[in-house]
Amino acid sequence: MVQSAVLGFPRMGRLRDLKKATEAYWAGKISQADLLAEAKRLRLEHWKIQKDAGVDVIPSNDFALYDQVLKQSQDFGVVPPRYATSGLDDIDTYFAMGRGHQKGGVDQPAMEMVKWFDSNYHYVKPAFQDNQTFKLAENPKAVEEFLEAKEAGIITRPVVLGPVSYLHLGKPDHDQSVDPISLLEKLLPVYVELITKLKEAGAQTIQIDEPVLVLDLPEKAKAAFKPAYEKLASTGVDLVFSTYFGDIVHNIEVVPKDIYAVHVDLVRNPEQLETVIGALGPKTILSAGVVDGRNIWKTNFKRAIEIVESAIQKLGKERVIVATSSSLLHTPHTLASEKKLDPEVADWFSFASEKVVEVAIIAKAVTEGPAAVRDALEANAKSMNARATSKRTNDPAVKERQSKIVASDYNRKSEFPSRIAQQQKKLNLPLFPTTTIGSFPQTSEIRIQRAKFTKGEITEAQYDKFIEQEIEMNVKIQEELGLDVFVHGEPERNDMVQYFGERLNGYAFTTHAWVQSYGSRCVRPPIIVGDISRPAPMTVKESKYAVSVSSKPMKGMLTGPVTCLRWSFPRDDVHQSVQAEQLALALRDEVVDLEKAGIDVIQVDEPALREGLPLRSGKARDDYLKWAVNAFKLATVGVEDATQIHSHFCYSEFQDFFHAIAALDADVLSIENSKSDAKLLKVFVDSEYPRHIGPGVYDIHSPRVPSEQEIKERIEQMLVNIKPEQLWIDPDCGLKTRQWKETKEALTNMVNAAKYYRQKY
Ligand code: GLN
Ligand code: ZN
Repeated sequence: MVQSAVLGFPRMGRLRDLKKATEAYWAGKISQADLLAEAKRLRLEHWKIQKDAGVDVIPSNDFALYDQVLKQSQDFGVVPPRYATSGLDDIDTYFAMGRGHQKGGVDQPAMEMVKWFDSNYHYVKPAFQDNQTFKLAENPKAVEEFLEAKEAGIITRPVVLGPVSYLHLGKPDHDQSVDPISLLEKLLPVYVELITKLKEAGAQTIQIDEPVLVLDLPEKAKAAFKPAYEKLASTGVDLVFSTYFGDIVHNIEVVPKDIYAVHVDLVRNPEQLETVIGALGPKTILSAGVVDGRNIWKTNFKRAIEIVESAIQKLGKERVIVATSSSLLHTPHTLASEKKLDPEVADWFSFASEKVVEVAIIAKAVTEGPAAVRDALEANAKSMNARATSKRTNDPAVKERQSKIVASDYNRKSEFPSRIAQQQKKLNLPLFPTTTIGSFPQTSEIRIQRAKFTKGEITEAQYDKFIEQEIEMNVKIQEELGLDVFVHGEPERNDMVQYFGERLNGYAFTTHAWVQSYGSRCVRPPIIVGDISRPAPMTVKESKYAVSVSSKPMKGMLTGPVTCLRWSFPRDDVHQSVQAEQLALALRDEVVDLEKAGIDVIQVDEPALREGLPLRSGKARDDYLKWAVNAFKLATVGVEDATQIHSHFCYSEFQDFFHAIAALDADVLSIENSKSDAKLLKVFVDSEYPRHIGPGVYDIHSPRVPSEQEIKERIEQMLVNIKPEQLWIDPDCGLKTRQWKETKEALTNMVNAAKYYRQKY
């Protein structure tokens, strides 16, 4: 019999119940006992969903109150001393590590959190001491959750992050210099102890995740697998060695031969199947990840079954498991909550609760033969066909336009020196021009009016009037502050991607399809369902109004094609480059329309450009950079030379990425920089970067107001590497999460600092 398995289930619950409970706990509104009870209720509910779906192998320890990697660190005794001595109990220490703690005399910032591979989930990076020791917690969560499920009558497969990945994904703590992988030998006994405890509790198999296998690994990390898995084999427990988000062909030699099972992601990389099968030990089982854990599309049963069948042909039914490609953490809870979706497109989707049913159906189809699930297969084929042939998927006009793109569509009319001269003539900006990144505080009043409008409690005319008043107020404030290039403040935008998605053909929206981004924070990405086009201008009305009430140049504000793509659920039936190109063409029209409406400066934000970078270096990365840069250029170069194009990036690690940013050919770049070393800006001198740059002069993530002196010092450091005539003065990012009071104070100091240097030079 071919078993079905799920690698992990989302934790938030149908209505983001976990978010509500943790936030209520942090706010002191519910007790710790209440929080734990709610978490337990959710775990049981999620196990039950999978059991009822007929899944054979149900995971446990995939749950976390904040982050599963952080919890593993705590259970292994990897708690930096500054948290261990805070006097907090275990749960509060865990939250303090995850999100910082500022209460009762304790003032501890959070640990570093970074993206989990190329997903939008963030994990807390394990931080090791030079003299790190490891000690298993008395009641490790993995064991507790296994017992909890067992008590409910479900024998689960616990999930543990494997030793090599755990170390490789960590770092030395502040001021420490330990190479994490060198801690392997000290760490392994803790794994042996944990696995043994799980075995004693009744676990038959354990999912041990080693996702780092999909990366380019240093030799030291590669060499760690052999000793690690020899040691873990001594426990005698059947381990499912699991990888996802990429192929493992380049690291295939380190996959343990005598392991019980190996899981691979066959949604992303079906072509790795043959190599992986060839490398399996004589008894090793293949766990075939054929149901996508990263996207919301219904599984194509025919294709998935073909893949599984080809594995069965080589290995036999007993040596194949049908599984999700990765944990379903990256998918929303259930499609059943989406009452407003057009039934035509709703039929194309499958969220976590539906995907677990798919896994069971595919396993049944290959075990008993297609007749056993005939109805499901037929319905699926019908749905696949409907999607492939739908008018919502295919727009011949869009394809036609794409086919007509020519090389000159990617270039500005003139080179930068000529452009900037024309722009300067028009804009007449002082040295060290000041500007902001786009959004101004999104006050509760804005949210109230938007909600009223969405609910139909106020008319469109009333809402538009309100937005106009907000814009006018923003302009007035900028005039008072003495900024040089204004923004309208984005009061009409709920979210920088959703706002555009709602105005483009080819997008669908959900009401409850939240996915966890980090801790209690969830995002609700819009879904690209078909060819994208722009039925009408999207931002011109607001920008035009802003120009009409402003005495200074007004910057139009758009979200770039790659960011729109990355922060949506993309289509899985056409390459992402095609979707980016369609978004670019739609934005190109918007850029040109803004220009026609008298907007002389247009900023196209690409904060997600870097995160789209493929996990491994080489061809995939080069290809990505090529199409991503092209998409940005296609979107922005339709303007006259005298129109100034800006772009913005919210990440400071642009050094290795610099060539891509430079290739965008934007006239002005604003980049997050206030928290990093200004020396990093050296790359601009070294590369003789010719265009303008505005490295952020203060951090906008905190309400703290930077002093004028601090900003001056920052500018001074920047001037070491950036020529005065190239330097713009701006904050790190948009100000929408800030309050007005601190925003005005900070910007006053920023403008004064710029004025000081203006006089000096
Ligand atoms: N223009 C956007 C804003 O100011 C940019 C946001 C971002 O870079 N994440 O909010
Ligand atoms: Zn930003």
